[in-house]
Amino acid sequence: MLYEYLSGEVEAWHIAPRYDELLDENVRFIQSEVTGIDLGSQSVSLAAGKEKLDYDVLVLALGGITNYAGVEGAEEFSLPFRKLAHADNLRARMVSALDRIPPEMPPQDVRRELTFAVVGAGASGCELSTKMADLLVDAFKRRALHGEPRVLVLEMGDRVVPGMGDQIRKIVDEALLESHVEVHTETRVVKVTHDELTFEHEGRRENLKTAGVVWTGGVRMNPLIEQLEVEKTQRGLLVVKPTLQLSQHFNVFALGDIAVYPDATPTLAGTAQLAFQQASLASRNIKAFNEGKELATKHFEELGEAISLGTERAAVLTGGKAFGGALARQARFALYTSRLPTWHHRLRVGASWFFEGTTPRPLLPLGMES
Ligand SMILES: Cc1cc2nc3c(=O)[nH]c(=O)nc-3n(C[C@H](O)[C@H](O)[C@H](O)COP(=O)(O)OP(=O)(O)OC[C@H]3O[C@@H](n4cnc5c(N)ncnc54)[C@H](O)[C@@H]3O)c2cc1C
Repeated sequence: MLYEYLSGEVEAWHIAPRYDELLDENVRFIQSEVTGIDLGSQSVSLAAGKEKLDYDVLVLALGGITNYAGVEGAEEFSLPFRKLAHADNLRARMVSALDRIPPEMPPQDVRRELTFAVVGAGASGCELSTKMADLLVDAFKRRALHGEPRVLVLEMGDRVVPGMGDQIRKIVDEALLESHVEVHTETRVVKVTHDELTFEHEGRRENLKTAGVVWTGGVRMNPLIEQLEVEKTQRGLLVVKPTLQLSQHFNVFALGDIAVYPDATPTLAGTAQLAFQQASLASRNIKAFNEGKELATKHFEELGEAISLGTERAAVLTGGKAFGGALARQARFALYTSRLPTWHHRLRVGASWFFEGTTPRPLLPLGMES
């Protein structure tokens, strides 16, 4: 729900509970960066000044990192979108771009000054671009600016949400159209600078002036995993047994975006749905491992899809049927309430959404944003 956080439909405490609210007193939480994993001596090193830790059992759940695919300037100048801080940065970028536009500026100049590009039209790119477009259009009305903002989504492939089925793609296509997001498929971004983006389409190269470029072009392997000498796929994912153990290190479990699980519906790869389901199996198996009992295996199924589309709509796929619109937006909130980690969170957050509402927070001038 990072998109809803960007638009102010939800607050940070709704979607990102603090570790001290989640972990009980038996868990010692260390906030630090792991800088090395030594499977031979069974230890992990922490960032400077912190101790080295020995382990009996290790769980690897490091997740992926943004994949800039070697595109010139992409890492330096585009905005990633994976964490709360990234959403804060993007919102600040949109506000400062709007704040620079005087009300008398002619529409064509406004459009050039307020061009935002989203790279990658997977679920993230489509959810984000529709959200940004709706927020910017609303800000235009409130600030009485002339014309329209321009939000583009650029995709190398020949369609949006390539990993999803046709039913949900149709709803996504309609939402992109309704939110006036320009979709450019078969378009490859080749360079990003602080105020420009260069792309190639059908052999032609074009430059585009931008107020911001957001990179949702994929995920790459965590460098710590790259350094491990264990069995991996061609893409560098850890190969795990159906018990989530590494094949040569039975006391090391791996799950989530860094691992490939043999018995899961393929569309689940790289999703929270899979990581979330695997977590229960991992905890059960670690207990069994410590007690010398037999470890369990499990088949993981897709639970459905729920994607946010702008500030008014969503698309939900459940039981093989897809539906969109305002009702799907309500269903998405209901689904996410049920996925919150504890009953306490479900009740507090559910009550807050129900009684206080989930209206977006407009992009106000900088001094009024809080
Ligand atoms: C914008 C966005 C929207 C998404 N929406 C959906 C969705 O709607 N549905 C869905 O199913 N999936 C979604 N996903 C995918 C989903 O978030 C991931 O598949 C899931 O979070 C993977 O879980 P994980 O535990 O493997 O890794 P993560 O959730 O990425 O967690 C890894 C953690 O490890 C920490 N870490 C990394 N390196 C180190 C280190 N060296 N030392 C210490 N800590 C470290 C990170 O800070 C992070 O907290 C989305 C992803 C993004 C980016």
